[in-house]
Amino acid sequence: PAPSSDVTIRQLPDTLVNQIAAGEVIERPASVVKELVENAIDAGARRIDIDLEEGGVRLIRVRDDGGGIAPEELALAVQRHATSKISSLDDLEAVATLGFRGEALPSIASVSRFIIASRRGDDDHGIALAVDGGRVGEPAPKQQPAGTTVEVRDLFYNVPARRKFLRAERTELGHIEEWLRQLALARPDVELRVSHNGKPLRRYKGDGGALFSGERLAETLSEEFLANALQVDHAAPLSTDSGSLMRLSGWIAQPAYSRASTDQQYLFVNGRAVRDRSIAHAVKQAYADVLFHGRQPAYVLFLEVDPRRVDVNVHPAKHEVRFRDGRAIHDFVYRTLQAALAETRAGAPAGVSA
Ligand code: ADP
Ligand code: MG
Repeated sequence: PAPSSDVTIRQLPDTLVNQIAAGEVIERPASVVKELVENAIDAGARRIDIDLEEGGVRLIRVRDDGGGIAPEELALAVQRHATSKISSLDDLEAVATLGFRGEALPSIASVSRFIIASRRGDDDHGIALAVDGGRVGEPAPKQQPAGTTVEVRDLFYNVPARRKFLRAERTELGHIEEWLRQLALARPDVELRVSHNGKPLRRYKGDGGALFSGERLAETLSEEFLANALQVDHAAPLSTDSGSLMRLSGWIAQPAYSRASTDQQYLFVNGRAVRDRSIAHAVKQAYADVLFHGRQPAYVLFLEVDPRRVDVNVHPAKHEVRFRDGRAIHDFVYRTLQAALAETRAGAPAGVSA
């Protein structure tokens, strides 16, 4: 076709921009739960209550006892690219919080009926703000316990193309539970209570900060995993020039507890659940001699590296990271786990590290 001369370039309205961003970040109710619970964790919550209705499609309510939001900033929290977590490229390069893009709340609020209410511990009343399909209301005072409550109703009610892709209540709930399991593994110090359709569904008790109590492992995965778990905790220099350490800790299951699928493979990099092919490969290699063909190892591993040497800004939903020292990390994971597995084969009792 001939080039047309009546092309018009226009700036898209904010609501539409947010809805486009929502397409990347908010795939289904589980993505909303993930973003809201991550915000609660970033706000220092010790306890998070999650109420769901109809697989989260009808309602997701996340209430935390974290630091809260200043009344004069509440309206900003639902604006795009507004965040309290970074303010410079330097901050971004060393980011320690789960969030930093300032995208989740405006995205969610543009595709749902949304209410956020918050009170800081020292303020004598709270403040609430409703956003309906991206139309932002006026903040109004509200009685509210210290902390923040976000309510998301009728997800995708104004985006029929997305709504069509939502699955049965059971399926959506399953996705939510999987995210919660990951968050629960990453933060055993935080108490999580979940209800669905008015009935208690799960309670992960906060264990007071002992990251290695196996209790959370049994609560989230199984008693059997815990019974077969080898605890690892090993550190090594990250690279010759950076002067920093990498540390790998967590649990790997003995070969006797292998799986038919990769369903119990959890990797956290600096507290964030991620997928990483190279590390998954390193783990598999470590098990190569001790697992039958086609069986998958089960593991919950925490890798800590200098945040300046990990790029977390690779993916809008932050499912992936990029390492400066990918090769060294791969080899470190492989060697650490291979040694742990060799030790048990040599006869050390399960569950006890030498
Ligand atoms: P990000 O998490 O990337 O900063 P969000 O859109 O998720 O972006 O949140 C925007 C801002 O709103 C956050 O930076 C934070 O200041 C504030 N906020 C959101 N949720 C909470 C919460 N549960 N408690 C306290 N502050 C919150
Ligand atoms: Mg966030």
